[in-house]
Amino acid sequence: METSEFEVLVHQALDQIPPEIRMHLDNVDLVVEEWPSNEQLVGSGIEKEQLLLGLYEGLPLTERSDYGMVLPDKITLFQKSIEEICDTREEIVEEVRDTVVHEVAHHFGISDERLEELGV
Ligand SMILES: [Zn+2]
Repeated sequence: METSEFEVLVHQALDQIPPEIRMHLDNVDLVVEEWPSNEQLVGSGIEKEQLLLGLYEGLPLTERSDYGMVLPDKITLFQKSIEEICDTREEIVEEVRDTVVHEVAHHFGISDERLEELGV
């Protein structure tokens, strides 16, 4: 899939997040990379690059007290990783949506443990 097409899917996924949640997204960039970098892999605690589909880097809203002039949070989607585990375009669409929701949840300070409990 072309990167530009993948980026469209990412933005569609973001558009599907309910507006009342989306409006609270604060200072966060959404970017697409092919594969995670070594640093990102180490930071995530995941060893196989194929398994890291997306990554949230930043300071969750729940941990911001004196939040002034800082770099925006970053949510990265790894296109090749996602394509690797998907056979069809429909699967990619679904995986992109799940990953965006998952990383946005981290932006709101929800942990992986809690997300697992919620089945997200
Ligand atoms: Zn996570």
